[in-house]
Amino acid sequence: MRGQTRHRQCIPLKTWSQRCKDRHATRILSDWPIARPNKASRGIHRIRDNNECFRLAAIQSLLHLPKFMNWILTHNENGNFPCHPDIMKRHSAHENWQGVCAACSFKKLIRRYWGNGKLCADGQPRPLAGNHVDIRRIHTLDDNISGMVGAVQQQDAEECQSRLLEACRDSVDYE
Ligand SMILES: [Zn+2]
Repeated sequence: MRGQTRHRQCIPLKTWSQRCKDRHATRILSDWPIARPNKASRGIHRIRDNNECFRLAAIQSLLHLPKFMNWILTHNENGNFPCHPDIMKRHSAHENWQGVCAACSFKKLIRRYWGNGKLCADGQPRPLAGNHVDIRRIHTLDDNISGMVGAVQQQDAEECQSRLLEACRDSVDYE
């Protein structure tokens, strides 16, 4: 037993950074943040002839991760994780684009997607159009952070999702 204790002290199972992440993660709720009585997912309609299915796959999977959504929903709430002051510079690969906060953009989309708007008479949520303003905002964000504005070729959904997650992380001021 004594040997095992010494072993644990010498070789930490987790790094300091991982322990910090774990500590923060435990404070984030795991519940589904759905405002409406009907908890069904609404889906997103793809608009034909646009190069967007890889991006919609990335966005839609993020809209089904309760921890991610609850983290984003705390952004700017009660002074928590405000927008980073340099956000306009961080997310633009193009000088002429003013930039948007990725966390604010996802927060609007999460509220729209899981909110009370666009319901059928029986309360069933209707799908969002792929060109809805709250989704177009994220298309524009990814166009600019990837530097692929106007690109028509297919892209990789996992790479897109990583870009969007990094943009959310970098758009928040943790100081
Ligand atoms: Zn923001």
